[in-house]
Amino acid sequence: MLIDLHTHSTASDGTDTPAELVRHAAASGVGVIAVTDHDTTAGWEPALAARPPGLTVVTGAEFSCEHWTDGRRVGLHLLGYLFDPDDDALRSARAELRRNRLDRGRRMVENMAADGIPISWEQVSELAAGGPVGRPHLGRALVQSGVVPDVDAAFRDLLTSRRPYYVRKVDLDVFRAIELIRGAGGLAVFAHPQARRRGPVLADDVVAAMKDAGMVGLEVDHPDQDADDRAHAARLAADLDLIPTGSSDYHGTNKTTPIAACSTDAAAYERLLALPTARRPAGP
Ligand code: AMP
Ligand code: FE
Ligand code: FE
Ligand code: ZN
Repeated sequence: MLIDLHTHSTASDGTDTPAELVRHAAASGVGVIAVTDHDTTAGWEPALAARPPGLTVVTGAEFSCEHWTDGRRVGLHLLGYLFDPDDDALRSARAELRRNRLDRGRRMVENMAADGIPISWEQVSELAAGGPVGRPHLGRALVQSGVVPDVDAAFRDLLTSRRPYYVRKVDLDVFRAIELIRGAGGLAVFAHPQARRRGPVLADDVVAAMKDAGMVGLEVDHPDQDADDRAHAARLAADLDLIPTGSSDYHGTNKTTPIAACSTDAAAYERLLALPTARRPAGP
């Protein structure tokens, strides 16, 4: 049975609706799926309502975070699982992150439009459909306009931080995020901690401090981490007694990665489930 603890739907920047996502998971031999859209819980209800009988759904979200050391910023993602969606502090943090995504998306569209690239905010906001705006939405708009052949090319040629159109988001301080997720009865897991090809990664001593702050796991098997990255993450998880997880980070057709391309061991999943949480997984 495959356990995929990190996926996205149209509630953020995936292309499967939450209902399609859970049906696709079940049809692909997945037994446990976590629905972890960026900075929102909007996909939870439709995913739970459409849950095929044999599938377990773990509710979660992926929080955009940052950490500053010596005037340098490292952006990172924290997965929060099984937290209370009605917790006020965490809910307002999500709303703030979504506002920051909106501002940043607008500014990136303006930067490209000012340079003569055919992209409009109307297009992007229609694609985001009221949910959190991400660069994949900008990428799809660029595909629609015929600027690039696919979202991957859009990232490579226009949306990367190495291009002048890029605008940095304001994200949540990572220690504040851990505190908020814990405060809402959730489990914090560091997503793709060693994905060096995405940019600078956090130093091991910061990861140790995150563990001390209450983080419980580290994503080891992830498509953006090569064999060396995974070995490093696995060693760090073992040294710090963090639960090693695995996932596809599936985004539908916005990425080429299939669902359950990487997955979590049953023993690691059991360790997560043994911890107290505000919500329990929904399943058979
Ligand atoms: P943002 O959160 O708006 O900064 O955009 C980053 C999102 O785009 C993350 O969810 C990534 O998974 C996704 N992403 C990164 N690189 C690519 C790519 N080459 N093609 C499609 N999506 C990507
Ligand atoms: Fe994404
Ligand atoms: Fe991520
Ligand atoms: Zn993700």
